Amino acid sequence: MNSIIACHDCDLLLTLPELEMGVVAECPRCGAFLRRTQFNSLNRTLGWVSAGLVLYVIAVSFPFLSMTTKGISKTTALTSGIVVLYQQNMAGMGAVVLVTCLLAPLFSMLSLLYVLAPLRLGYRFPWAAQLFAWYLRLRPWSMMEVYMLGILISMVKLTKMALVIPGPSFYSFIGLIFVLAASSVSLDPHLVWSKLAKAHRVHQEWYPLFRFTHEKS
Ligand SMILES: [Zn+2]
Repeated sequence: MNSIIACHDCDLLLTLPELEMGVVAECPRCGAFLRRTQFNSLNRTLGWVSAGLVLYVIAVSFPFLSMTTKGISKTTALTSGIVVLYQQNMAGMGAVVLVTCLLAPLFSMLSLLYVLAPLRLGYRFPWAAQLFAWYLRLRPWSMMEVYMLGILISMVKLTKMALVIPGPSFYSFIGLIFVLAASSVSLDPHLVWSKLAKAHRVHQEWYPLFRFTHEKS
């Protein structure tokens, strides 16, 4: 099925045909990259998202760092930094860190799971298209790597004063950064939009009982 798209750089309207695997589409006017088909995109993205959710649960549930100095040990959690910012009258900054480092990645993973898992079976849950549009809009606001960079700099400084031992949450958080990047790379938004248009709608009246009615969109 051909789809009409606008070049995101020069707004030229183009009819994009079904692309074969590995073929790259570029704008004929400005040369901007338009689309590259991904091998097994839905399954790979779902795999990465599932792995990401497991890592996220570990990252928020287990100790992040433990510090020992002069015989006194202290264990911190991933959310400790946000709590400290709030306690030091920097609630606004704490809220930004909370949204960009914890809530945005969680929203990304849950919305992808909600949209892609039923889509793989040919179904479309209520609000799936709106949720996917929000995912694409909010994707640049996931800034875990910036938070991680700040933590690493603090750790290097702390090692001069205390014995710093990273916990399971620390390694999960690093893994999560790479897993989310991989899910973003393996996702083909054009494929998702085209599948959403063709999928059977799960009737809203039956939701959330997930009784599938075969109403063609
Ligand atoms: Zn263009």
